[in-house]
Amino acid sequence: MLRILRPTTASRFIRFYSSETTSHVTPNFKKEPLTPLAKHLRDSVKVTGPLSLSHFMREVLVNPLKGYYMEGDVFGKQGDFVTSPEISQVFGELCGIWYLTEWMRLGRPDKTQLIEFGPGRGTLMSDMLRTLSQFPHFYKTITDVHLVEASPGLRKMQRAALVKGSGDKDVTRIEGNEHEAPIETITRQDGVRVSWHDGIEVVPDQWSFVMAHEFFDALPIHSFEKTGSEWREMMVDMDDTEESEHNFRIVKSPNPTAMTKSYLSDKKFDIDFKDGDRVDISPDCWGVMEKIAQYLDRNGGSGLAIDYGQDYIQGDTLRAIKDHKIIHPMCDPGSADLSADVDFSFLKQAILQGSGVSAYGPITQKDFLQSLGIQARIEQLFKNAKSSAARKTLLDGAERLMDPELMGRIYKVLAFSKEPNTIKEEPVGFEKKKCLLESDK
Ligand code: SAH
Repeated sequence: MLRILRPTTASRFIRFYSSETTSHVTPNFKKEPLTPLAKHLRDSVKVTGPLSLSHFMREVLVNPLKGYYMEGDVFGKQGDFVTSPEISQVFGELCGIWYLTEWMRLGRPDKTQLIEFGPGRGTLMSDMLRTLSQFPHFYKTITDVHLVEASPGLRKMQRAALVKGSGDKDVTRIEGNEHEAPIETITRQDGVRVSWHDGIEVVPDQWSFVMAHEFFDALPIHSFEKTGSEWREMMVDMDDTEESEHNFRIVKSPNPTAMTKSYLSDKKFDIDFKDGDRVDISPDCWGVMEKIAQYLDRNGGSGLAIDYGQDYIQGDTLRAIKDHKIIHPMCDPGSADLSADVDFSFLKQAILQGSGVSAYGPITQKDFLQSLGIQARIEQLFKNAKSSAARKTLLDGAERLMDPELMGRIYKVLAFSKEPNTIKEEPVGFEKKKCLLESDK
């Protein structure tokens, strides 16, 4: 995740699927040890042939055998990357304030809940709840916090952050039908219930606030390259050569795949792209965003998707990060984070085509935080800080979040909201930023 922006390494390692021979072989690379996850991936390639990048990414990140996220903490200075809520408490506080403004704008419903996708360490939710608890009229409407999280290790960390002093024995497990994982639930001292789910499909219907911070970039992508007048898909094959230490390599399908036909048949892919251009498409992002929009359409509510990316389709954005450095995406699968830039234009279409929910933006993180008064909040914390070290951390953090060269511009904020027709006012920070369906432009 930022996940610093630098050119990705993937494109330099593409080969054609049909095994080519190379003349300049560098012999004798010692292969990385085969972990159980790498063995499993190689077995899959043996059975089905090269895997789509999407298949590979999903397995690497959330396979129970030892997917990257499955065990626990990967964040912060000691981990692989740092995210905005981990940089400064102000980030979560201002997101909380945005929800408060939405609650007022949308008619102050008397029963609300918060749903967060991929909550990481639980820091963002914890900062939002602390801030919102200072507004008792609103806070007393919050009955539940629902966390959609794949990783058992991170679920534990989230519990520790949100329900202090709790242990495994305090969690109630509600068994679903045979196809559903049990829902885990625990109640905080202030009466708010916290539950963990595998997807929004199993979150009970209620008026809701949704948050997805650095979640969509972790969802798998398919990646394509225009070759002559046709599109080819990037796939992951075994690498048994002595040319690299990795056990896998990225190759190009010799023919269009089913995904190529499904996603790139639109005329614009013929006209707007030339030989050698790359595009990444994430059907998973579409699927999750559409489900969120349909949930809000049914129940009412409002939400934010905050991530790095652009408001248009991009290509070759897969990147692997370990120890705060960009590494080769095929390096020891499961040991490094894999992510891709988010295509916000795609998310917006998923909202607008799939529901009666409005979409706004995206705007930059800098503009979002500014509209919520980051300057005043930083000044207040600065005055109360107990040491010069604390003051420095505060200012460094604010700079990192806001500076257009750091996270201020590449991180974008998309808002979505189910608005009764009577409401003409727009969400704070998103004035005149309402989006139209592609076909209505
Ligand atoms: N929002 C946090 C963490 C971002 S990392 C922050 O900004 O600090 C991505 C998060 O999404 C992790 O919690 C990871 O375990 C979770 N995640 C990744 N893929 C997922 C999936 N398919 N389903 C549910 N959670 C997922």
